[in-house]
Amino acid sequence: MDTAVPGTPKTPAVSAVVVGAGVLGACVGYHLARQGVRVVVLEEARPASGTSGATFSADVTHLKTPYAYYRLNRQGAEEHRLLSGTLAGPAWLHPAPLVQWADGDAAHQALRERVLRARGWGHDCRLAPPSALRDLAPAVDPAACAADEVAVYGSAVWFDAPRFVHALLDAAVEHGAETHYGVAVTGLTRTGDGRITGITAGDRSWSADTVVNCAGPAADRIAALAGVRLPMRQVPGLLAESAPLPGPPLAAIVVAPGVDLRPTADGGVLALSWEIDARLEGSGTAALDGLPRELHRRASTVLPGLARTRIDDARIGVRPIPSDGLPLVGAVASAPGLYHLVSHSAVTLAPVLGRLAAREIVTGRPAAELAPYRPDRAVHDSVQDENLRAMNGRRRRSQRAGQGL
Ligand SMILES: Cc1cc2nc3c(=O)[nH]c(=O)nc-3n(C[C@H](O)[C@H](O)[C@H](O)COP(=O)(O)OP(=O)(O)OC[C@H]3O[C@@H](n4cnc5c(N)ncnc54)[C@H](O)[C@@H]3O)c2cc1C
Repeated sequence: MDTAVPGTPKTPAVSAVVVGAGVLGACVGYHLARQGVRVVVLEEARPASGTSGATFSADVTHLKTPYAYYRLNRQGAEEHRLLSGTLAGPAWLHPAPLVQWADGDAAHQALRERVLRARGWGHDCRLAPPSALRDLAPAVDPAACAADEVAVYGSAVWFDAPRFVHALLDAAVEHGAETHYGVAVTGLTRTGDGRITGITAGDRSWSADTVVNCAGPAADRIAALAGVRLPMRQVPGLLAESAPLPGPPLAAIVVAPGVDLRPTADGGVLALSWEIDARLEGSGTAALDGLPRELHRRASTVLPGLARTRIDDARIGVRPIPSDGLPLVGAVASAPGLYHLVSHSAVTLAPVLGRLAAREIVTGRPAAELAPYRPDRAVHDSVQDENLRAMNGRRRRSQRAGQGL
């Protein structure tokens, strides 16, 4: 039986070009360099200037289905903890309980079911009376929670993704990796039999045994250079970051109807709203007009202290979302030598995906954990991941409401 990853060399790779310096590019670059591969990381702007620099970046393991995908996310979160004890630099991993409540019977039922499912899978979570908010997130206005119970995920964390990227790249460089920023990959080189042998970037070029496509929302464009179609789409999200809160900082990640909030490293708050994101689609960055203010207003109804702060920064991040919600990892037979590494929720997943991808690239042996995520699987638009199903539902409802339907 041939056990090689389709399209990957059976002889181990000794050189690799990684396209993109977000969480996935930094993680796979780090693991490749540690294993002695000659690695070049190419980034068209700066490290973490893509989605990894404009993300809510909480551990989303509890939201994930099916079970194998939940396990993969849980492994990602566990490997963050291991890496945080290994890599130098400022802390990127911030433990904070996650508290969520819902409005309406159907949403509440879905919340309960998720807690029961996650508990059944051994996740640290429970249902609690709303008074739990007093201890877990005293800065939250109790009147903002009209629900009879809240879900509490006790061992949740949020990640400072840019710091994580920098720590990984610094460690990769220590292990011999080269990094080049301000270099946009514009083409792929290939042999007569179709094998990808490197990249071109304007008048520059780099050869490698494996090109690793970690271009995030632009990954489908890199794949298209080799005639490969990646089944994915781009979904924008608005993030507003406040100045430090007056009074006690937010101590928890709070997921309330209409707005998600989490602390920032500076004592401020990062806010996101799916209802607002639904309005971004198709309208580009022009939609920034007025929306950060609306996001700030929504967030202030949950966290009154926010009304006395300003928004320091508002950004749009673009989620790279595979059509069925699950990662796209590996090469395809029509373009051997080009290895794709693309995922939503990649801040949570990066440590495990980066490690497993590097091992496959180095050894040519497939990782069983990655078998469900091959880019040439039959990807239908039926969504496997409950998290993405819920996101799609919220987006559709908001878009209908916005159109007055
Ligand atoms: C609003 C929002 C909320 C989110 N919330 C969470 C969350 O709570 N938890 C979670 O785990 N995930 C979350 N995500 C998803 C997560 O942030 C992304 O999955 C992750 O950041 C993707 O990382 P990446 O390395 O694949 O892509 P990126 O960070 O986008 O990196 C790709 C890099 O490739 C570079 N690039 C592109 N084209 C080229 C080229 N031609 N040449 C050279 N370089 C190129 C880009 O400049 C970029 O720096 C969220 C995303 C958004 C937008």
